[in-house]
Amino acid sequence: MIDDNKPQNFTAFLTILNLEAKNGYNNKAVIGGLDKFLIRWLDENLQSTIPSHIRYLITESPYAKKTVAERELWSKQLLKLLNEETGRSSVSVEPVVEAGDSSIDRVDDSKKEPIRKSIDSPVQTLKGVGESTAKKISRLGINTIRDLIYYFPRRFMDFSRLSNVASLEAGIEQTVFVTVWEARTVLLGKMKSTEAILGDDTGNIRAVWFNQPWIAQQLKTNMRIALSGRVGEFRNAKVFENPEWEIIQEKELVHTGRMVPVYQLTRGLFPRQLRSLIKNALDTYVDDISDFLPETVRRACGLMCLSNALHQAHYPDDTSQHNRARQRLAFDELFMLQLGVLVKKHEWQNEQPGHKFDINRASLERFICSLPFELTGSQRKVIDEICSDLNRPVPMSRLLQGDVGSGKTVVATMALLIAVNNKYQGVLMAPTEILAEQHFMTLYKLLSAVSISCQRLGNVCSFKFNNGLVPDLEIALLTGSLSGMEKSETQRRIKAGSIDITVGTHALIQKQVNFKNLGLVVIDEQHRFGVLQRQSLRQKGYNPHLLVMTATPIPRTLALTLYGDLDISTINELPPGRQRIKTRWLKSTDRDIAYNFIRRQINQGSQAFIICPLIEESENLEVRAATEEYERLSREVFPELKLGLLHGKMKGTEKESVMHAFKEGKLDILISTAVVEVGIDVPNATVMLVEGADRFGLSQLHQFRGRVGRGEKQSYCLLLAENPTAYGQERLKAIEEIDNGFLLAEKDLQLRGPGEFFGTRQSGMPDLKMARLTDTILLEKARREAIKLFQYDPDLSLPEHKFLAMEFKRVWRKNIENN
Ligand code: ADP
Ligand code: MG
Repeated sequence: MIDDNKPQNFTAFLTILNLEAKNGYNNKAVIGGLDKFLIRWLDENLQSTIPSHIRYLITESPYAKKTVAERELWSKQLLKLLNEETGRSSVSVEPVVEAGDSSIDRVDDSKKEPIRKSIDSPVQTLKGVGESTAKKISRLGINTIRDLIYYFPRRFMDFSRLSNVASLEAGIEQTVFVTVWEARTVLLGKMKSTEAILGDDTGNIRAVWFNQPWIAQQLKTNMRIALSGRVGEFRNAKVFENPEWEIIQEKELVHTGRMVPVYQLTRGLFPRQLRSLIKNALDTYVDDISDFLPETVRRACGLMCLSNALHQAHYPDDTSQHNRARQRLAFDELFMLQLGVLVKKHEWQNEQPGHKFDINRASLERFICSLPFELTGSQRKVIDEICSDLNRPVPMSRLLQGDVGSGKTVVATMALLIAVNNKYQGVLMAPTEILAEQHFMTLYKLLSAVSISCQRLGNVCSFKFNNGLVPDLEIALLTGSLSGMEKSETQRRIKAGSIDITVGTHALIQKQVNFKNLGLVVIDEQHRFGVLQRQSLRQKGYNPHLLVMTATPIPRTLALTLYGDLDISTINELPPGRQRIKTRWLKSTDRDIAYNFIRRQINQGSQAFIICPLIEESENLEVRAATEEYERLSREVFPELKLGLLHGKMKGTEKESVMHAFKEGKLDILISTAVVEVGIDVPNATVMLVEGADRFGLSQLHQFRGRVGRGEKQSYCLLLAENPTAYGQERLKAIEEIDNGFLLAEKDLQLRGPGEFFGTRQSGMPDLKMARLTDTILLEKARREAIKLFQYDPDLSLPEHKFLAMEFKRVWRKNIENN
C-alpha cells in the first residue's frame, strides 16, 4: 500500500515553489494563482499518503491572502518538508491524524525495520509514531504497545444508533450515512471553519466544523461518508455541529457508526489520532497475544478470551459485550494480585521454618489479672488466634485490625511477652517517633503493673523489669532523637541479645539494627507499609512471626485483595464505658460558635485540636496556610490562650517538642496540618475542630476524631466546610451519623474508589485499571480460582501454566521495580 500510494507530482510541486521564490512570491508562478494548484494537487493525492503535517501546512490559509513575508516563510517551511519527503525511499502512511497539530512527527520507518516487533516494543515501533507523538503519549503513561492496548477508554460515544436524515432527532447521538454535496471554508464568528451540505435518500442536512477549515479540503463532492454526533437546531433547521466523520470504506468504522471510545488525552494529542493509534495497535498485535489464563479457569468463570476482551474493551459491539470484556480484564488483575500474595505468603512461610513458641497459659493469665481493666471478648479472641499461630513452626503473618481505641497495644504486648518467654527478641515498630514513644510508655506502664521492680539502665532509654513472667526483662526505645552514642550503645545491646523488646520507628529498626535472635515483629499502622516492604525483614536472615496492626479498618473485600498474604484478626468492640464523640457539621457562618465552644471547654480545663484544610497541590502551600491560620487565631481569636503549631515541614525535634508541650498541658490549642492524624494519645483533649472537612476522606476524618474522647470527659468533633460539593456533603453527613470505623471505611471506599482511599502513600499495589474493589463477587471468584490453582501448581511450572508464569513474572516484576 505504501509504494502504490506515493504522492504524485512532487517534483512539479517543488519546481513551482522554487519559481515563486525566484519571482519574489508574487503568486504568479501558476496561472490563476497558487491556491488553485494547491487544491488540485491535494485533490489528486487524496488517497495517497501525504503526511498530515504537510497537508495541514498546505491548507492552513489561502496563499493569496498571505503577505509576502508570510509567503516566504510558508514556502521555505514547505520546501524543507517536501525535500525531506522525496529524499526517502518510501513515504509513510500516517494514521488518520487530526490536522491542526503542526508539530506532528516526521516518521522514518526505514530505520525501524531491524527492531523485532512485539507487544512490549516501544510505541515508536508503530507506523506513524515518531519521537514527538511518543513523548506526548508518554505523558499518559504509555510507553509500549502493551500500554497502548491497555489504555482503556474513559467512556464511549454511542454512535451505534443508525438513522436517516429525515428522522434525525435533536439532542441525541446518532449516525447517518450520507453523500457530500458541497463543502467549503467559511468564517463563523472569527474562526475559519468548514461548512458542508450532505444528504441521503430522505433529505439533506448541514454540518459545520468550527475552527477546522482543513476538513473542507478533505470532503469531496459525491464522497460517501459516515457522520456521527449530536444534532442541534439553528434557525429552525437541523445541523450537525463538529460531528465525527469518516469515509465509508471496506474496513470497519473507527470513529463513527458504533460505540466509539473516548480516551483521556493530553495537550497536543487529538482524539482521532489516539483512537487510530490504539486501533492500529489492537489490529496488529492483539491476535498474537497468548491467553495466559488457563482454559479451566476461563471456563469455570465464564470469561471471554483475552484477545476478544481487549478488542471489545475498546471497540465493543454493544454494552453487554463491553461488560463482559471488563469482567475478563478485571478478573485478570484481581487474579494476578491474589496469586501474587499467595506466592509471597508461601515464600514467607517456606523459605525457612519459623520458630514454634510455647504458650505459658498461667503466666499469660497472671499478666491479664494485673491489668487495670478487663479485656474485651474481642481482645481475648484475638489473643487466642495469635497464640495458636505462634505455637506452630510456621511464621505467623497476621493483620490485626481494630478501630481507634479498641486496645490493640495490650494485645501486641502479650504477643511480645510470649516471644521473650521463649527466649526470642521482639520489636514494635511505629511510623513516627511520637508514636514509638507513646508505645514505649504504654509498654512501660503495663510491665510496671506486673513487676516487682523496675530499674533504669544507664542513661539510655532502657528499663529492666523483674517479674514472675520473664526474669530480667529489658526494653529499649530506639529513635532518631537519641544521641549517636546512645544509639550505638542500644544497638550494641540489641545485637548482644540483652535487650528483649525494642520499640522504635520503622526506618530505624529496619536499616540499622541487627538482632541476636529476632522472633516477633509487630508493625503498627499498616497503611504505610506495603506488601513488599515486609519482605525486606527476611533478607536479614530472620524469619520472625509478624503481626501487623492497623487502626484504619480495611473493608473485608479490600483486605482480601491487598493483604491476601495475611490472616486477619479483628477487634470489633470498644472497651465498655467509652463515650460517643459528638460530631457536628457546622456551616462556615457558625465558625464563631465553634470558637466560643472551644473557649468554654478550655476554661473547664480541656484542650483542643484545630486541623487546617488539606491542600493537595503542594505541601508548601499547606504549611503556609497553617502558619497563617495559627497567627490569625493567636492574634485575633484566642489572644488569651496558648497556641501551638504543628506541620510537616518542621524538623522532627521541633514536632516532638510541640507535641510534648501539648501532651503536658502547656498548650491549650494545637493547630495542625493533617500530620497529627496518626494515633496520638492526649486524654485531656476534648475538642477536634476540622477546617475544610469536606476535603478529607472519611477514614481520615475518623482518625482525627479518634484523637479526642480518649479520656473520661465527653468529647466533640466539629467539622467546618466552606462550600462542600454534593459529594462532600454526603461524606460529612456520613461521619456525623456513623461512629463505626469499619462502616465508614466501606462508605469511603464506595464514595471514593480504592485509589484515593489509599492515597499515594500506598505502595506495592499493582495497578487496577478495570477492577473495582467494590465488585465483591468477581473478587471472591478470582480469589477462589487463585487458591485452587496455587494448591495444584504452586510454582506455576506445569506446561499449561507457561504463559501464566510469564505474565506473573511480568506483573510482579513491574511492582517490585516501582517500589
Ligand atoms: P488502639 O487500638 O487505638 O491502639 P490502645 O491500645 O492505644 O488503642 O488503647 C486505647 C486505650 O484503651 C489505652 O489507654 C488502653 O490502656 C485502654 N484499654 C485497652 N483495652 C482496654 C479494655 N479492655 N478496657 C478498658 N480500657 C482498655
Ligand atoms: Mg494504637
